[in-house]
Amino acid sequence: MIDEYGRAIDYIRISITDRCNLRCTYCMPEEGVETVPHAEILTYDEIGRLAEIFASLGIRKIKLTGGEPLVRKGVIELVKKLKGTDGIEQVTITTNGMTLEAQMEELAKAGIDGINLSLDTLDSRVFTKITRRQCFEEVMRGFRAALSHPEIPLKINCVPMGISGQNVADLAGLAKNYPVHVRYIEMMPIGLGKQFDFCSEDSILEELKGRFGEYQVCEEKLGNGPAHYYSFVGFQGKIGFISALSHKFCSSCNRVRLTSQGFLKTCLQYDIGTDLKVLLRGGASDETIRDAIQDAILQKPSGHQFTEKTKEHGEMHMMSQIGG
Ligand code: SAM
Ligand code: SF4
Repeated sequence: MIDEYGRAIDYIRISITDRCNLRCTYCMPEEGVETVPHAEILTYDEIGRLAEIFASLGIRKIKLTGGEPLVRKGVIELVKKLKGTDGIEQVTITTNGMTLEAQMEELAKAGIDGINLSLDTLDSRVFTKITRRQCFEEVMRGFRAALSHPEIPLKINCVPMGISGQNVADLAGLAKNYPVHVRYIEMMPIGLGKQFDFCSEDSILEELKGRFGEYQVCEEKLGNGPAHYYSFVGFQGKIGFISALSHKFCSSCNRVRLTSQGFLKTCLQYDIGTDLKVLLRGGASDETIRDAIQDAILQKPSGHQFTEKTKEHGEMHMMSQIGG
């Protein structure tokens, strides 16, 4: 579907749960967020039906997210269902890796097309400080399980927080030693992220240059999203940046988001969109739901204004409730 600003929307992030087994300080409060009753979360049948409608409107790629998507029971069945949806070309997942070791084989068999592993540091003590859980080894086992499937692209996502000991440059070493892309995601002022300063791409690149030597801008287009990449000599993977504030990419935004409660969000910053659960559960026809999606996408905002003071329609939820 083409929106009012001429952008082709072919990618959706579907959050399948608001629950998580970590408590990353920039994403969730220590006590967690008030969980939504299960009855308020879209069922897999509802998600499957919406996926068919989205596919009929030109959505080709689905990313499963959360909360932590791998904590929801039956996620493998959902992957299979989505993979079997006409028109859907790619189903990928973003995970904190906690249960990846146990689920990787099944994900591979289900046909997952890519894994994004969120990993903010390679220092286990700092990892515990960031996630409030002592489970660095579990996550690294998940990383190795994903690596054992070289046919499934693996990306590491790190959010630099500007805290001592995070040593974000260490993560780039993973792209040197393994066939994985490592991406640095600028902290966005959403939910608890507002409490942190974002670390600039330029400062991280400078650090990487000091440690790993010269780099070149990667001209080749990699992936579906807003990341841009650099090549370092001798690296197996690339180094990417998703810099929503310092390198705003809204003019080429290709995505929408579906929350676990069935709200179609058309821009990360705003609560603008449409409540699809009300339609699904009110007995609406596919036609009516399709029209509602089309209307919402037509009204997709031209871009975020994170760096401005405006609060109108500002997103009040935590990132764990939106799906990143
Ligand atoms: N639990 C899964 C995970 O961690 O990959 C999926 C959900 S999580 C909300 C998705 C991504 O959003 C993670 O990579 C996380 O680091 C990122 N994220 C959370 N809060 C953020 C913020 N304020 N700014 C930028 N990225 C954020
Ligand atoms: Fe959970 Fe992912 Fe948020 Fe961390 S970033 S608290 S793993 S949802």
